[in-house]
Amino acid sequence: MNTSLRNPLSCIDQPFRQKLAKLGIRSELDLILHLPLRYEDETKLYSIRGAPESKAVLVEGVIIHCEIITRPRRQLICRIEDATGVLSLRFLHFYPNQVKSYTIGTRLRVFGEVRSSFFGMEMIHPRCRIVHEGASLADALTPVYPTTSGITQRNLTKLIQQVLQSDRGADYLAEILPEAVLAKYRLPGFKESTNFLHHPPSETSLAQLESRTHPAWQRIKFDELLAQQLSLRMHYRQRRNYQAPALHQKGYLTKMLRNALSFALTSAQEKVLVEISRDLSTAHPMQRLLQGDVGSGKTIVAALAALQAIENGYQVAIMAPTEILAEQHYQKFLTWLVPLGVKVAWLSGSQRKKERERELTEIAAGHAMLAVGTHALFQEQVQFHRLGLVIVDEQHRFGVHQRLALRYKGTDTNWIPHQLMMSATPIPRTLSMSYYADLDVSVIDQLPPGRLPAMTKLIDESRRDEVITRVREACHAGKQAYWVCPLIEESEVLQLKTAVETYEQLGRIFPDLKIGLVHGQLKVKDKSAVMTAFSLGEIQLLVATTVIEVGVDVPNASLMVIEHAERMGLSQLHQLRGRIGRGNDEGVCVLLYQKPLSQIARERLRIIFEHNDGFEIARQDLNLRGPGEFLGTRQSGVPLLRFADLQCDMDLLEAARETADYMLNHFPENAQCHLQRWLGDRKDYLRV
Ligand code: ADP
Ligand code: MG
Repeated sequence: MNTSLRNPLSCIDQPFRQKLAKLGIRSELDLILHLPLRYEDETKLYSIRGAPESKAVLVEGVIIHCEIITRPRRQLICRIEDATGVLSLRFLHFYPNQVKSYTIGTRLRVFGEVRSSFFGMEMIHPRCRIVHEGASLADALTPVYPTTSGITQRNLTKLIQQVLQSDRGADYLAEILPEAVLAKYRLPGFKESTNFLHHPPSETSLAQLESRTHPAWQRIKFDELLAQQLSLRMHYRQRRNYQAPALHQKGYLTKMLRNALSFALTSAQEKVLVEISRDLSTAHPMQRLLQGDVGSGKTIVAALAALQAIENGYQVAIMAPTEILAEQHYQKFLTWLVPLGVKVAWLSGSQRKKERERELTEIAAGHAMLAVGTHALFQEQVQFHRLGLVIVDEQHRFGVHQRLALRYKGTDTNWIPHQLMMSATPIPRTLSMSYYADLDVSVIDQLPPGRLPAMTKLIDESRRDEVITRVREACHAGKQAYWVCPLIEESEVLQLKTAVETYEQLGRIFPDLKIGLVHGQLKVKDKSAVMTAFSLGEIQLLVATTVIEVGVDVPNASLMVIEHAERMGLSQLHQLRGRIGRGNDEGVCVLLYQKPLSQIARERLRIIFEHNDGFEIARQDLNLRGPGEFLGTRQSGVPLLRFADLQCDMDLLEAARETADYMLNHFPENAQCHLQRWLGDRKDYLRV
């Protein structure tokens, strides 16, 4: 098959080409894939009296009156008549030529919505054409294309039809999918589908076209999803082709840690460990995403995975997105691993040069088997002796994930390390199937036993006093509490100011409590001193900005107050709330809000109030915001979908996923052609 599928639009002049480029049209094939947004039906002619209301239709009549009026504003009013009645046409913008040509007796064919008004039946700004009696009607529905200023619908229609009918059109439209795939999913041909969508015969159901459930649309959406799956699966396979050290399950270190734990792993933790452990023992790099709701116990899973690497004499790097979290991991891994005789190193951006150099030497010499840190771990100077596994906690906080492990494709080794990504932002299954098709996914779908879901209370700011009483009672009863400051997204300075003010104000309100403050601008040393004091119980009330959002784990803290909860996003609220109820006490999360609430803020508060399950919250969040915003710009390595809709096209997505693997295994050339057709040059830039 011809792979030069994408001929440039060389016959079109430069300025017009630039306008087309704004629509994403750069080649003749792009024109074919520029599909209509909707359709208008100009295949039927209605009589004036028979025209249905509030639906755009075609009507025809002879001009009986035409005038420009100036009140209430300048406009052209024109009346046409047929055998059944009279229809007024009203134009707020019009040209002198138009007025000149609308002489009495001229026959006009108009397309628009009929409304009944004070003056009788009326159409505002219809599309008009002067015709002679009996002029033929359109033989197909009229496509309405996405467009931009300077390009008319007529321009687009003409260009697209030209390509479809050209000799090259046949090449562009050649069938790429194997017969078996078409048959299995009952999909129509590509050529048939595109021709149909650009030119649907008059009897086609508009409803089926508009809801995109028509088989021709299904085919296009399937193709689009297939291209996405193919590109992700190909990258997965390419990375999988690298070598990695086979880290066999030896068991002695992992067993020692298990024995030392004060709890037994949940069966969900055991299940994901089996999956991870199996990956580690193969000679190709693991690329696994571990998902689990806040508090589901991912850290211990990471520790056991790390020990499997260490047992084999390979080093492990664990990276966390914030200093607070990295520090907390460091402390935790010290208590877990040092008794086993494993040396742990610590790297952070703000550490003193001397200390840093000492840690770097330990890592390079292979004395430290585990290195914990922030992204400082991924700087050039950090040389490992034998790195076998990279673990990235809260991976959604970082950029495109795959590059990290490749960074360690050292010059003197021919392998890349295994990689484990962890995320507490649960991604609904549809999204994860679509956007993480280049990863294997494990899910911890169970919380440790005895965890009571946090009780959530929505309280109006005006009842702040009651909340204060509650905080005091809890702290006097030996519990600890968080007070989360309002989020000021626009300005870090204001954010800091608010945090300090809140801290001072609470200090005056609670002279009887030991209060601490932690925020993003604090020096790392101070930050960790505060966190340590809080986890030791020396601080009773911790005033904090959202820096505590990820990963922080202080089991005795069971009460959290969040100010201006209406400003926060759902996943942020869920993460924050996940900080409490980690010990044996039931957690209580007070969401203080200030009225008036916007529609979306009200919805968010309702969802967080009604649900505790992170996956359910994420699913509703996705419904609320749509996939683009839900995933945010961080995931921008993945092509966005133009036609398919992850919420409605789940079946197609499953089919596309199956087909991608089938084609890569049995029809690799067709797979390449398909990618070329759908992604063109873009395919090489995705998540390399
Ligand atoms: P997350 O998945 O949010 O990272 P963590 O790993 O921080 O969760 O675990 C939350 C808390 O639960 C920690 O205090 C941890 O020690 C504890 N934990 C983890 N697994 C279990 C278990 N199987 N039984 C009881 N407690 C557990
Ligand atoms: Mg965690």
